[in-house]
Amino acid sequence: MPRPLVNTRLGRFIFPALLAFALPLSTFAQKADPKDTEQWTPVPPIISAPADAPPSDAIVLFDGSSLAQWRSEKEGPCPWKITAAKAMQVAPHSGDIHTQRAFGDIQLHLEWRTPSQVEGHGQERGNSGVFLMGLYELQILDSYDNTTYVNGQAASIYKQSAPLVNASRPPGTWQSYDIIFFAPRFAADGTVQSPAHMTAFHNGILVQYDFPLLGPTLYVGQPHYQVHAPKRPLELQDHGNPVEFRNIWVRELVRAKAQAQSP
Ligand code: MG
Repeated sequence: MPRPLVNTRLGRFIFPALLAFALPLSTFAQKADPKDTEQWTPVPPIISAPADAPPSDAIVLFDGSSLAQWRSEKEGPCPWKITAAKAMQVAPHSGDIHTQRAFGDIQLHLEWRTPSQVEGHGQERGNSGVFLMGLYELQILDSYDNTTYVNGQAASIYKQSAPLVNASRPPGTWQSYDIIFFAPRFAADGTVQSPAHMTAFHNGILVQYDFPLLGPTLYVGQPHYQVHAPKRPLELQDHGNPVEFRNIWVRELVRAKAQAQSP
């Protein structure tokens, strides 16, 4: 039976020699410079983010003082009212309102409050909505102890996606939405390159996570896309209930090139 190599004279030479080589090599591999993975440019722009005011790079759409950023869907000045508490309130049956400016990819913050006096059931209770690009609705509804179809309750992407949880506060209480919205991309031939995507927080709670929308919001029928402009005005819904709004601001987002190209 042959003797194991390690016990031979040659073996006693080879193994220490291999170890002498291998150890420094492995040590070298572990000692890659931390600087190799540091990125120093481009430097993110400096903004201020105060606790009780919009960030400095936001476009303020309503701060309690003016309706100048808003227009009636019927064209003309905004028919809604500013209340004594400096909230913007739906004037029931006056029609939806939309922003003067058009937006594509955005971060949107808004606060809303349904009437403290509870009237109606289901979809008739504290109904409004925020329509990204005037087309894609994140539902506003009094969903505190108020049963309706789940893809039509508060924080649903109306008729497309129920919220992950119901984070509703009682009627008459201020609530917040923070929304990340990416507009759909269309190819030159009109096909959808990338659908609209929405992430939303209701009162700070994640309720929609990167949901790919099936098309513009429809009350009846299956949604489907039609080519539209890359930027369109934001819209708030008059559903006949005196819902109030405050602290509405938006930040325009720029997607990295690689991200923008992938669906
Ligand atoms: Mg609605």
